[in-house]
Amino acid sequence: MTRLYLDHNATSPLRPQCRDAMLDAMSAPRNASSVHAEGRAAKQLVERARKSLSDAISCPPTSVVFTSGGTESDHTGILGFTRGGPKVERIFLSATEHPAVPAAAAKSGLPVEIVPVLSDGTLDLCWLDQRLSNYDPQTEGAFLLCVMLANNETGVIHPVKEAAAIARKAGGYTMVDAVQALFKVPLDFSTLGADMLCLSAHKAGGPVGVGALVVTPGLGFEPLLGGGGQEENRRAGTHNIPAIVGFGALAEVAKPSEYEALAAIRDQIEAGLPDGATVHGASAARLPNTTCLTAPGFKSETQVMSMDLGGIAVSAGSACSSGKMKKSSVLGAMGVPEDETATSLRISLGWDTPPDAAERVLATWIPEYKRISSRAA
Ligand code: PLP
Repeated sequence: MTRLYLDHNATSPLRPQCRDAMLDAMSAPRNASSVHAEGRAAKQLVERARKSLSDAISCPPTSVVFTSGGTESDHTGILGFTRGGPKVERIFLSATEHPAVPAAAAKSGLPVEIVPVLSDGTLDLCWLDQRLSNYDPQTEGAFLLCVMLANNETGVIHPVKEAAAIARKAGGYTMVDAVQALFKVPLDFSTLGADMLCLSAHKAGGPVGVGALVVTPGLGFEPLLGGGGQEENRRAGTHNIPAIVGFGALAEVAKPSEYEALAAIRDQIEAGLPDGATVHGASAARLPNTTCLTAPGFKSETQVMSMDLGGIAVSAGSACSSGKMKKSSVLGAMGVPEDETATSLRISLGWDTPPDAAERVLATWIPEYKRISSRAA
C-alpha cells in the first residue's frame, strides 16, 4: 500500500512544475547582481518570478521582497517596520499567531498586547474594536497589528479585512501572515487593507527556503539583513535563484480552485467520524484542506503513531522543530480544555491528495479509536 501524505500544512511535496523549473535554473551560474550575460539572465528569472507572484496576489511587482520563508518574512515585517517605519509604540498580536510572530515581536522590545480569539478560533473583532475605539495615536503612538489569514493548526480563517479596517481607523498598521492561506484561498493584496503580507512557498507545493514579504509602496522600512543592495536594499544576500524560480512556477500553477475541490475530501472525513469525535473551528470559515479533530481518550501521539503505522502521515498540530509534541497554544486560546488539546489531530490535504484519501483515513483511524475506547470503558 502506498503511503498517504496528509501533513501539507507542515510542508507540501514539491510540485513537478516547480522541480523542473528549479532544475533548469540550477543548470548555470546565476547571480542576479552580476552585470555579465549570465547575471542578466539570472535577474530576468528573478523578475519573472516576482511578476508571477505579484499577478497571483494582485500587488505591484516592486512590493514583493523575496526572503528565505515565512519565519524571515514575519521577522522582517515586524522588525523592519518597527525600526524603520513611523514611530510604532506597541504591537497587537492575535492569540493564535505562528510562534515566529510573537518571537519577532519580543525582539522589537515594544509592549505587546494579545487580541483574543472566540471559541470558533476567529479573531475577537468586538474586543479589538472596543480596545481601539478610544485609541489616540497622538498620545499612545502608532501601533502594528499582526493577524494571520489562516491558522496552521485548525485552518480557521480570520476576518483580516475587518481587523485591518479597525486598525487603520485607529491610526494603526496591519501585517498579515498568509503563509498557510497562499494559493489555498483567494488572496488579493490590493483589497485586503493590510500594509504587509508574509508568504512562504513550501505549504502549497513550492520549495522550502523561499518566501516573500509584500510591502505597501512607500511604507517606511529598515532591512533586517544588510550588505548587498539586493531587493532594492530591502533584503541583502545573493538571490536563491532556483528557489525563487520554483516559487514563481508555483504562482503560475497553484490555484485556490484546486484546493476548493479538496473540501469534499475534508468534509467526507469529518462526516465519517464516530460519535464523540469533534472538529475544532468547525463552525468558522476554514481552509478547504485542513481539519483538526479531537476524540476523547485518544491521545495525539497515539493517533499520529497508529496512522503512521497504517501508512498515513498526519500531525498532532503544528510541526515542531524538536520533533516532540507539545500542548497546542492555539486550541488553548480557543478555550479548549487541556484534556482535549492532548487528543487533537491535524489532517492537512494538498495538491497530490488522492480521491480515496477520506476512506483510507477513516479505515485506519476508526478501528484504532474503537480499540482505545473499548479498553478505556
Ligand atoms: N507562519 C505560519 C502561519 C506558518 O504556518 C509557518 C510554518 O508552519 C510559518 C509562518 C513559518 O514559515 P517557514 O516554515 O517558511 O519559515
